[in-house]
Amino acid sequence: MIKRRISKAIHIGGVKVGGGAPISVQSMTKTDTRNVAATVSQIKELEECGCEIIRVAVPDTEAAEAISRIKKKIKIPLIADIHFDYRLALAAIKSGADALRLNPGNIRDKEQIKKVVTAAKAKQVPIRIGVNFGSLPPSSGRKIPAADFMVKLAMEQVDLLESMDFDLIKIALKAFDVPTTISAYRKIAKKTTYPLHLGITEAGLPRTGVIRSSVGIGILLYEGIGDTLRVSLSSQPKEEVFAGYEILKSLDIREHGPVLVSCPSCGRSESDVVGLAQGISNYLLNVKKTIKVAVMGCVVNGPGEAKDADVGIACGKGKGVIFKKGKITRTVTEREFLRSLITEIESL
Ligand code: SF4
Repeated sequence: MIKRRISKAIHIGGVKVGGGAPISVQSMTKTDTRNVAATVSQIKELEECGCEIIRVAVPDTEAAEAISRIKKKIKIPLIADIHFDYRLALAAIKSGADALRLNPGNIRDKEQIKKVVTAAKAKQVPIRIGVNFGSLPPSSGRKIPAADFMVKLAMEQVDLLESMDFDLIKIALKAFDVPTTISAYRKIAKKTTYPLHLGITEAGLPRTGVIRSSVGIGILLYEGIGDTLRVSLSSQPKEEVFAGYEILKSLDIREHGPVLVSCPSCGRSESDVVGLAQGISNYLLNVKKTIKVAVMGCVVNGPGEAKDADVGIACGKGKGVIFKKGKITRTVTEREFLRSLITEIESL
């Protein structure tokens, strides 16, 4: 059982983050925020696959103003991602953003930050202090390790916001380098109780990005660190949501839709187990039930795993035994494998 770090609760719109709330899964749109129709369409797709908080880029005033129109058509809370220009933060708050992401590396003028904090406080809009390795400011502080510098920068920003009597704070310390990210989060977790947003930034294409993110985010989650997460991938944002839930599911932190157990196949298998697993995986993409399905290649581990699942199959030569809730229901021929599994899943 994972013992979670005790963190302060904040609310991003209707989603509680920290304070023992379920670890929420976020993503970020890849559309031009000024294109309201395209952005809403992408967010709707993300809502459908379980995204709980969405972030949009706000590169200019037009994008900030588009937030109010986007917000009218979506259900999940929206975070405005702001860089360089504090006036965009003010415009995003006015437009109804549920939270802001500010990068302390590129908005450093205290008076400008104060204006943003005053407006955020008036509307109870939380601010994520989002430190990113790629945008660390030049400083003598760079002589210390990157993780320490990221923590230092975040804590300076925390102190600044607190000095303005503002505590609706969330912190992220993202780097591409997994050990640096882990080290930074471990350190800041000891220094503050503000909720932490986890991620490995610029993790890459899904094939490698999911692995980097799973290792980095997974280690932190297992240590009880983290209140919300985003898997950053050079891919469709719904892949980020899918990966986020898979990380949480693999640590038994959250349930979300089906889990597929499938054996890798080997010389013992006398059926196309990999093809069957792919077929059932495609089918499960549209299943919302929290179920466990097992596709196993032979009698070595097959019956055990199949019995343990809600629905399972232990394949043999030309035929397979179907299990449902631990009991054998029938034996089917290889041509019927996929259809029979789907029928049993539908009957649950
Ligand atoms: S379950 Fe059987 S076929 Fe699948 S990997 Fe194990 S031994 Fe091989």
